[in-house]
Amino acid sequence: MDFDELRKANEQRHTEWANGESLPLSFRGVELAGEVGEACNEIKKLARKDLGLRGGKDDLSGLCEELADVLICVDLIAMDLGIDLGEIVRAKFNATSEKYGLETRL
Ligand SMILES: [Mg+2]
Repeated sequence: MDFDELRKANEQRHTEWANGESLPLSFRGVELAGEVGEACNEIKKLARKDLGLRGGKDDLSGLCEELADVLICVDLIAMDLGIDLGEIVRAKFNATSEKYGLETRL
């Protein structure tokens, strides 16, 4: 799976989910924040396990699901704004490498 495949699926599912109607950026932002919060909650549960506290878990499946949700939501925002996610990730990754004198580039 790559960003292009994700974008095509997001576009197709958006027509099912919202009849192709555009949604406000504020909705997309809250949607993303919610998924980031869910991912952080999974990280908290993993940390509890590491700290020996009640309510912890060492199963990564919940975190995997929430990380996926975060990426899906990021692409939905980029989709709505006509942004090429692959291109901006490449540009930012490489800019950070350049800034810190690192050789790795996309
Ligand atoms: Mg979620």
